Amino acid sequence: MKKYVAAIDQGTTSTRCMLFDRSGRAVATEQKEHRQIFPQAGWVEHDPAEVATITREVCAGALARADLSAADVVAVGITNQRETTVVWDRATGEPVYNAIVWQDTRTDRICAELAALGDDGAERYRARTGLPLATYFAGPKIRWILDNVEGVRARAEAGQLCFGTMDTWVLWNITGGPDGGLHVTDPTNASRTLLMDLDTLSWDEEICAEMGVPVAMLPQIRSSSEVYGTVRERGVLAGVPIAGILGDQQAATFGQACLAVGEAKNTYGTGNFVLLNTGTAKVDSRNGLLTTVCYKIGTNDTVYALEGAIAVTGSLVQWLRDNLGMISTAPEIEQLAATVDDNGGAYIVPAFSGLFAPYWRSDARGAIVGLTRYVTKAHLARAVLEATAFQTREVIDAMNADSGVPLTSLKVDGGMVGNELLMQFQADLLDVPVIRPVVSETTALGAGYAAGLAVGFWSGEDDIRANWVADRQWQPAMDPQRRDELYARWRKAVTRTFDWVE
Ligand code: ADP
Repeated sequence: MKKYVAAIDQGTTSTRCMLFDRSGRAVATEQKEHRQIFPQAGWVEHDPAEVATITREVCAGALARADLSAADVVAVGITNQRETTVVWDRATGEPVYNAIVWQDTRTDRICAELAALGDDGAERYRARTGLPLATYFAGPKIRWILDNVEGVRARAEAGQLCFGTMDTWVLWNITGGPDGGLHVTDPTNASRTLLMDLDTLSWDEEICAEMGVPVAMLPQIRSSSEVYGTVRERGVLAGVPIAGILGDQQAATFGQACLAVGEAKNTYGTGNFVLLNTGTAKVDSRNGLLTTVCYKIGTNDTVYALEGAIAVTGSLVQWLRDNLGMISTAPEIEQLAATVDDNGGAYIVPAFSGLFAPYWRSDARGAIVGLTRYVTKAHLARAVLEATAFQTREVIDAMNADSGVPLTSLKVDGGMVGNELLMQFQADLLDVPVIRPVVSETTALGAGYAAGLAVGFWSGEDDIRANWVADRQWQPAMDPQRRDELYARWRKAVTRTFDWVE
């Protein structure tokens, strides 16, 4: 009897394959990092061929660890770093350029030109796509490749090239590649291109034309949970149905069982991503959040979310480690920060690639403010952790304002949630409990759930809710006046980063 679901999690720094049983417990994980390519300041690329190879290796590795074979796996789900853009040749499978990663800011000129086409500026496509024009999203990245790689535009117009986010690239490769590979995506990924109409879940031809992206190169948009096809290569999962696709943050929302209106999760990784389930209602943001597809399960109605995307949180800890050498491992930051009671008046605003939600300022750059002779590296370590919590507070404030219903608790996951000091400060700053589940690999689990639901391994959302178990809670304990003072100071610090890049 088949007893497991496989999830492929193609992330920003690594790719992993995890196997889950019916209780949602992980029985095996295999993970490998891929290279980060920085050709110049502000540019970030990945080698798509390397990612495809690693994907095969981690699938084989996970099965081997649990001593299982394809015969034990009921379905495969895919989750992925969103917005990262690949364009490849349909006939050969050769990428025409490296994958342009979500953090890459090279499309700022393209975004500014598109914003100048009308009176709404960066809000030009918000009503149709839920997104502001920003370098973060995939559409302008496709445009950049077509404009800058020789001969590529003509090939795209002739239908010879495929575009995909990483879900599509992985799916196409494991379903045969040039030999009949499926060119398919799901609405959560498509909703991050600036090219999809949020109501109809189809490509908006008018926007595609303005963006200079031929519709012929775009994948078919299917639901997030259905059998798309089967793994069709000599690989270890050969013959297993592929039955789920969710962008990583939507997958984490699903894996956290945020399945009812008003439920939200925050993932603390390289960046932070808060998603609030708004049900079948598409809530327009007036406060700098994104309106996005949360999931679409088979033929059920589309479920939407409000999202607060924060570019730099955990990567600020990496910066303290790698660029300043103040700590040698990420978890060490907690010991250093705990040697002092507060930030000593110092605030670090990590606007390394501008600011995402709720500001969307590409002209901002990072700043450390409030420095005095008193400030030590321990205060700075504390300021690094606090920056994550302050940025989260800004996004939650925006969410409360947009939805009209204040959040009463926050489910958390991701690499930073092992940090007690940060989690307590987060609860203090939000004034609501912060709750961490037993299974912290919510991204992979969410993709597994989407795939398992499609093949009847789980019978419905009640199974997912039943599998969610709280592990640890942090209760707010800060004096309100102090909370207000700290937060006001942070907001002032943020304004000091604006207007830096001309
Ligand atoms: P991603 O999935 O985005 O690659 P993860 O969820 O694996 O990220 O989280 C890794 C991030 O969390 C890194 O940026 C790292 O600096 C940070 N991190 C990991 N452990 C800790 C810790 N104990 N305290 C603070 N930051 C941490």
